[in-house]
Amino acid sequence: MAKPLNIAIIGAGMGGLATAAALRRVGIAVTVYEQAQQFTRLGAGIQVGCNAMKVLRKLGLEERMRGQSFYPRSWNNRDWRTGDIKFDMIFGESAEAKFGAPYLLAHRGDLHEALASAVPDECVRLSHKLTGLDETADGVRLTFANGATAVADAVVAADGVHSVVRDMLFGTSPVNFTGRIAYRTTYPASLLNGERIDDCTKWWGEDRHIVIYYVKPDRSEVYLVTSQPEPGFTVESWSATGDVSELRKAFDGFHPQVRHVLEACPSVHKWALVDRDPLPRWSDGNITLLGDACHPMTPYMAQGAAMAIEDAAVLSRCLKGVDRDGVAEAFRRFEATRKPRTSRVQASSRTNTWLKNPTDPDWVYGYDAWTAPLAEPALA
Ligand SMILES: Cc1cc2nc3c(=O)[nH]c(=O)nc-3n(C[C@H](O)[C@H](O)[C@H](O)COP(=O)(O)OP(=O)(O)OC[C@H]3O[C@@H](n4cnc5c(N)ncnc54)[C@H](O)[C@@H]3O)c2cc1C
Repeated sequence: MAKPLNIAIIGAGMGGLATAAALRRVGIAVTVYEQAQQFTRLGAGIQVGCNAMKVLRKLGLEERMRGQSFYPRSWNNRDWRTGDIKFDMIFGESAEAKFGAPYLLAHRGDLHEALASAVPDECVRLSHKLTGLDETADGVRLTFANGATAVADAVVAADGVHSVVRDMLFGTSPVNFTGRIAYRTTYPASLLNGERIDDCTKWWGEDRHIVIYYVKPDRSEVYLVTSQPEPGFTVESWSATGDVSELRKAFDGFHPQVRHVLEACPSVHKWALVDRDPLPRWSDGNITLLGDACHPMTPYMAQGAAMAIEDAAVLSRCLKGVDRDGVAEAFRRFEATRKPRTSRVQASSRTNTWLKNPTDPDWVYGYDAWTAPLAEPALA
């Protein structure tokens, strides 16, 4: 019997952990290398679309995610000032029946912990910042900032929007700063002083918006995320905090419900919003990119992590039963299968019109990464 593949995954974010769990399902040995010293629970929410939930179900995480997340009746879209409804995208049971999985609103830390729970601790190496990659006759040789080295049959780089592997392989241009920023935070709903807010609403303003939703099943925690112009701000880091009074000022004329949520908000993170045009290539030999490393997008469809999670499922199907000599072709099949969809989501996200008016969402939420047809491999 052929030796099982041994794959190094760079980055233990959403994409890296989902990939580790999905590859283990098909008998592939994985080691995940993460630069951080530990996993930290940072204040943000994340919408987990039905398409992502179909992947998480097969990774054995559905029950856990349902138990920890909020199950909204809809994603409502309202006018910033009048509160008039522009389009109410109904989720809940009817959408679950139609798309084959629930739409959940989670704490980002809960989703990350769920994915981490699907990967044994001994497969994850923290404090391993990748600094070099070399394809040799024995496999791909990896070097790390801490002096460690490793050899793997292949490498999946899920190292995020500023991927060093992407730069090593393709020397790509810098990321596109959109000139816009997001404030975001989660906080205890008790700070709302008993005032009930909508399940999940995007409040559409003229040049800015704010999305507010619960992230716990008992409505005990609230999340808000904004988008507004601030050209020149380029920090993307969880250590960058924002000024809550600036945030309140920026949404001054908004509907009373928005102002109430901002009044109660104790602190915020501030984040530059970036994206990138689709890349010409994702893989080179036995090294491929995955997730934000190859298709970063603005967060306006709430699909960035969902795309990385879908990638994981499709990659596992492409690699199933493949030996080391077949990996490069499997990676090109992965790219050919995924790129049309991720490019479409990147382009659609950039327009920031998703669900603003009546929208047919079937192509996004109806997708099933476990059964979508696999494409012919892209040319080498
Ligand atoms: C404001 C905002 C809101 C969002 N909301 C949603 C949402 O509601 N739903 C949704 O689906 N998506 C959302 N997203 C997008 C989502 O956060 C990303 O698409 C997703 O995190 C990408 O996952 P990833 O694994 O590719 O990258 P990341 O999660 O960024 O993980 C990359 C990992 O690689 C590690 N790393 C980097 N370089 C190295 C190195 N050299 N060596 C070792 N490790 C390394 C990093 O430390 C990190 O852990 C949002 C994004 C933003 C900015």
